[in-house]
Order: sequence, then C-alpha cells, then structure tokens
Amino acid sequence: MRELLRKNIAGLVPYSCARNDFKGTASVFLDANENWQDFVKQPGRNRYPDPLSTRLRAEIEKRMGLKAAHTVIGNGSDEVIDNLVRMFCVPGKDHVLMLPPTYGAYRVFCDINDVKVDVVPLTADFQLDMQAILAYLRSEKQNRKEGEGRLKLLFICSPNNPTANAFPLDQVEEIARNFDGITIVDEAYHDFSSVESAVSLQPRYPNLVVLRTLSKCWALAGARIGILVASEEICAVMASMKYPYNVSSPAQDAALEDLANWEKVMAGKEDILKQRPLFAASLAKLSCVEKVYPSDANFLLVKVRDANKIYTYLMDKGIIVRNRSKELHCENCLRITVGNATENQAVIDALKEWKE
Ligand SMILES: *Cc1c(COP(=O)(O)O)cnc(C)c1O
Repeated sequence: MRELLRKNIAGLVPYSCARNDFKGTASVFLDANENWQDFVKQPGRNRYPDPLSTRLRAEIEKRMGLKAAHTVIGNGSDEVIDNLVRMFCVPGKDHVLMLPPTYGAYRVFCDINDVKVDVVPLTADFQLDMQAILAYLRSEKQNRKEGEGRLKLLFICSPNNPTANAFPLDQVEEIARNFDGITIVDEAYHDFSSVESAVSLQPRYPNLVVLRTLSKCWALAGARIGILVASEEICAVMASMKYPYNVSSPAQDAALEDLANWEKVMAGKEDILKQRPLFAASLAKLSCVEKVYPSDANFLLVKVRDANKIYTYLMDKGIIVRNRSKELHCENCLRITVGNATENQAVIDALKEWKE
C-alpha cells in the first residue's frame, strides 16, 4: 500500500488538533480557543467535534457490523472518494479505471484533481465485462514505465447507480485479486441488496476498500455521513490527510440518534423493499414503459418510449425523476427512486395520462 501512496501523503505530518495530546479527565478546557458561551441551546455546539468520530464509529460497528478499527467517517462518501483520489493519484500522471454506466461523481473528482479516467464499459445488459477488465489490467501492468504514471484506483459500484444491479461477489474478488492498485467497491445501496458485501473480502485483500453511507437506507442524506471500510493502514493515512473536523457535531449527533433507532430504520427498509416490486410491476404495465430493470437498490431504472419528453412532462406535473438517457447503454432510461406508496402512485397516475 505504501508504494501506491503519493509521496507527499506518505510523508505527511498531520495537523495536530487541540486535545489530541490530552487523555484523561479535566474540567477546564482552554486549549482550543473555543467560546465557553452557548447561544444555540444545543449542548456541545460551542466545542470542536471529535476529529475521529469515535463514538459514531463504535455505534456503526454495533449496528452495521463494520469494525471501528477499520472505518473512517467522511463528510458523505463524496469526501471519502475525493480523499482516495488525492491520497493515491499524482495529478497529471496517474489514472483510474471506471466501469460505465456508473456513478458520475468518480469522474468529477478525478477531473478536479487532474487525474485521467480510463473506462471499460459494462456489457449491454449491465454486467461486468470480466474478460475486458482483466485484459485491461494485464496490459496496463505490462506497459508501465519507470517514472511515469500508472493505474492507481479502480471503481466498482455495486449495486450500481444508475443500473440498479449488484455484481456477483466472486467477480469483484477476481478483479481485486488481479489488480495491484486500490479496488474501491462503492456499496451505497448495499442495504437494499441480497448480494453479499465486499466487506468480507477486505481482510484477505488489503488493497480493497469499501464505501458505505448513511444517505440512503439510513435516511440521513442531509447529515453527510460516508464510511470508508479499509485496512487499518489505509484508515490511518486517510485519518491523517482528511480535514481534521470533517464531520460536524450536529451530523455526528444525528447519526448516533439514527443508529439508536435502527429497528425503525430496518422496518423502513422493509417498507421500501415491499414497495419496490409493486412499483416496478405497475410501471411495467404502462404503455409508455418498455422495460423496468431488476433492482438491488432503492431506485428503478426504467426504459420508456421517449425519456426526454416524459422527463419534462413529469417535471411539469411537479414530479422530479432523473433522466439518464445520455449514459452509455441507457438510451431512453429514467432513474426513479422508490418513494412511499402515495409518491409512487403519483408517478403511475401521471404516466397513465401521458400521450405521445
Ligand atoms: C448516493 C450515492 C452515494 C452516497 O454519497 P454520500 O456522499 O454519502 O451522500 C455514494 N455512491 C453512490 C453510487 C451513490 O449513488
């Protein structure tokens, strides 16, 4: 892992937060230039948050089974993705691999960091093109030149956004086994899937990292809580290079409350899983719908007659969905979140009235 890091990150002396050096109990804290006064009537808001989200990581271990020693909390997965790019990729030299159609944020963070993106597309039925991926990895390795950039990261999104399907774990494992860079498995939608998580692979593949989030199943998109699951070594490096106070105390508190309500969250997930096939079946019956793709996530990818027209038609009715028809293999596809029964029915009713 060390030799994959950017040199400036490997040799980084991290910012030392106030209170980092202090262990034990005290009653007078005059080390961080905080203000002892409190004007918002929310205990703790006048103090800096815990840089390592220690209590939150302990709760995440308890409720999600992700070992605290192997997690770092980010300001959403977005921050974790950006940090991974900045940790490993030398701007203007190294590159990453992604497997489109997939989550657009990977490319944006690479563009921002001046890191080139290579692609091996999914097959037309949205499966991993294993032969092409392994051939790409082999040839990239063979053609590396001393002193030049190389492939550092490979993004696999499973269940994949926007195609909604999860990839078999043995294929993810085969990719990780054949790649000597960092394999990133983004499992934002894992809670809605029956496919086994790549977290179980992490102990055997120290260069494999998994991303989770509280934004989807845990209904906390506004709090911005993303989770890196990785080797202790990778976690230590990310903890040293992230913004020291990257997760605010209101966000940490909201996440703790959310996790304490895990029974309600699980019941809520069951409700979404119940709505998903009903919504899919109702959509499939409509004359303007050509295909509803199978889903391991809390959204459906729907192929319609004319995505652009239907997208604006729905918008005029106050219903916002995502037009994905410009993505590879996704011609005329809309991505629609599974909402509550009323919201889903509103979509169905509107589409019933749609005329070409
Ligand atoms: C929604 C989503 C995330 C979550 O991002 P956050 O920054 O944690 O809200 C991550 N990856 C994918 C593929 C997503 O669709």
